[in-house]
Amino acid sequence: MSRIAFIGLGNMGGPMAINLAKAGHALRVFDLNQDAVNTAVAAGAVAAMDAATAVADAEIVISMLPASRHVEGLYLGNAGLLASIADGALVIDCSTIAPATAKRVCEAAAARGLQMLDAPVSGGTAGAAAGTLTFIVGGEALALERARPVLQNMGKNIFHVGGSGAGQVAKLCNNMALGVIMAVTGEALSLGVAHGLDPSVLSQMMAVSTGRSWATEVCNPWPGVLEHAPASRGYSGGFGNDLMLKDLGLAAEAAMGVGASIPLGELARNLYAMNSHAGHGGLDFSSVIKLVAKDL
Ligand code: NAD
Repeated sequence: MSRIAFIGLGNMGGPMAINLAKAGHALRVFDLNQDAVNTAVAAGAVAAMDAATAVADAEIVISMLPASRHVEGLYLGNAGLLASIADGALVIDCSTIAPATAKRVCEAAAARGLQMLDAPVSGGTAGAAAGTLTFIVGGEALALERARPVLQNMGKNIFHVGGSGAGQVAKLCNNMALGVIMAVTGEALSLGVAHGLDPSVLSQMMAVSTGRSWATEVCNPWPGVLEHAPASRGYSGGFGNDLMLKDLGLAAEAAMGVGASIPLGELARNLYAMNSHAGHGGLDFSSVIKLVAKDL
């Protein structure tokens, strides 16, 4: 069992930290939101008064923050957390952030003599709670072997995709494909319904045909087709439209960095931006179907 500091106990980090506490690790937690801290404490974690106290004698430091600026602010900003982390500790950032930022923070950690991995996740809040996340890891293989037992307490699949920042690139590739597939699945179902088709029958057919995807089978965007999909509860919960918008913005930035062409990814980014402007930013990203479906 390890001494672990966990920073960022939101929708994802909260349940991930609880799984580490359940696994028996000595867990110190910090979040700006006291309610989030209280939930982790109820599961066996110890609350720290600030991030520096949380990491003071930790062997492993894990962060799960909203975006690049939060990660940069935490490790390199005024708080300068890297300076407070014990020598020899391993740092794992699970947030989804820009690959360039991940590299910059990892380089600063290396300069301080610390191993650091970027390990963004896929699997959503349900995967975080169930401990079945997929970890998409960038960094040194030896650091990953150190992290593996702890990651296995929170997830089911672990992929080592390359050096620092590579985990973020791979995560953005996955989410860009997901964003495009969800948008076109919404278009396909709307087209069928406009022709009088039953969206459930259409979805069942697609789920065993070549148009099948996670969007038809697990997170179907048409209300009532799948009982447990966000669409069937007013698009609440799930993966927020604005988080998808953030990831597509990061994908666009990453594409520009290497001169890559992502015409559909850019188009999808605009669709999720339009959905956000329509007031649906806080809804599940499958609500992008509202841009094209009459009466939804
Ligand atoms: P969230 O907004 O629910 O949680 C973020 C937490 O970080 C909040 O509790 C906030 O108070 C805390 N925080 C912010 N700055 C802090 C600081 N300086 N010190 C301490 N705590 C701080 O976000 P989330 O849904 O948990 O997502 C976290 C990351 O995981 C994001 O990068 C997101 O893109 C990614 N992600 C989310 C999902 C999902 O389904 N929600 C799925 C995969 C990946």
